Amino acid sequence: MNKLELSCMLPEEITNALSLKQNFRGMQIFKWLSSNVQSFDEMTNLPLDLRNILKKKALIRTSTIAETLVDPDGTIKLQIELQDGNKIETVLLIDAENRKTACVSCQAGCAMGCKFCKTGTLGLSRNLTAGEIVEEFRYLEEKAGKLDNIVFMGMGEPLMNLDAIRKSLKILSHSEGRNLSMRRVTISTCGIVKGIYDLADNGPAVRLAVSLTTADSELRSTLMPVNKKNPLPELKKAIYYFTKKTGKRCTLEAALLGDVNTDTKSIDRMIDFTKNLPIHVNLIPWNPVPELPYHEPTRKECTNFILALESAGINVTQRAKRGRKIGGSCGQLGKTITE
Ligand code: SF4
Repeated sequence: MNKLELSCMLPEEITNALSLKQNFRGMQIFKWLSSNVQSFDEMTNLPLDLRNILKKKALIRTSTIAETLVDPDGTIKLQIELQDGNKIETVLLIDAENRKTACVSCQAGCAMGCKFCKTGTLGLSRNLTAGEIVEEFRYLEEKAGKLDNIVFMGMGEPLMNLDAIRKSLKILSHSEGRNLSMRRVTISTCGIVKGIYDLADNGPAVRLAVSLTTADSELRSTLMPVNKKNPLPELKKAIYYFTKKTGKRCTLEAALLGDVNTDTKSIDRMIDFTKNLPIHVNLIPWNPVPELPYHEPTRKECTNFILALESAGINVTQRAKRGRKIGGSCGQLGKTITE
């Protein structure tokens, strides 16, 4: 018999799935799950016979932690094994102000094939379920205590698995559960135009980040195949629509690849692209993946880029290098799965 997977359920779904006569029991179970209990025996306000039924019929978690890696800079990466044997990675980032951010995966692998990204070399195995996404978050809170932010920037393209993300956020933001604020959630896309409209129109009301990398269309198509079906003018319109509809600013991310997308032409195209968009640009010096044919940008390349954007009046930051020693930085996920 397949056991019930409780981590993907809201209180009323737990009540229905277990055919509980009293609705409040479903809520009690949901609250215990949200407080990260490890066993049904810890659910001390449930009658013993219900705890025994749960042991027989249900699972608290469907996945397990296969490996925990800790970088000297405090970054933690969990390699998580799913029920079907697929492995994913999820990362806890701690910034200089001690804010804790969960960088979670939404797919096992990724179909988008961005050329500078380790996950892109794996191909797509499958979408994660809402429960598997919830479990990533709960594992990280078990390790590190209450998290401040959650970003969908791990393995996979979030806008290709938006329904599962929506459900996971319903569970994590439930007022009787973890009560996570949507203001603390960011969804990062490689530029799926249709998905950006969907997110703007149908929520949830999260922040949006777009991995632009370059606004040089020809170059972008070679680095990010998604650009062919989602060309830059359409992407710009979608970002504009999102910011107008939601009132939220969008972050444009650019992985800087040494001698590839850091020249004057790339800078000028980026400045052009950002015109009339309420955006912030986050530059990410490329994090090395040995088998990929790129190198890190020099300090001068990064500085030139930043200064040029600033002179054009663009709000720009450079992301700190974190988690590199454990393959936990942006673009490196999947490294320890294939090693
Ligand atoms: S950058 Fe994101 S969308 Fe592109 S291949 Fe990597 S995980 Fe997929």
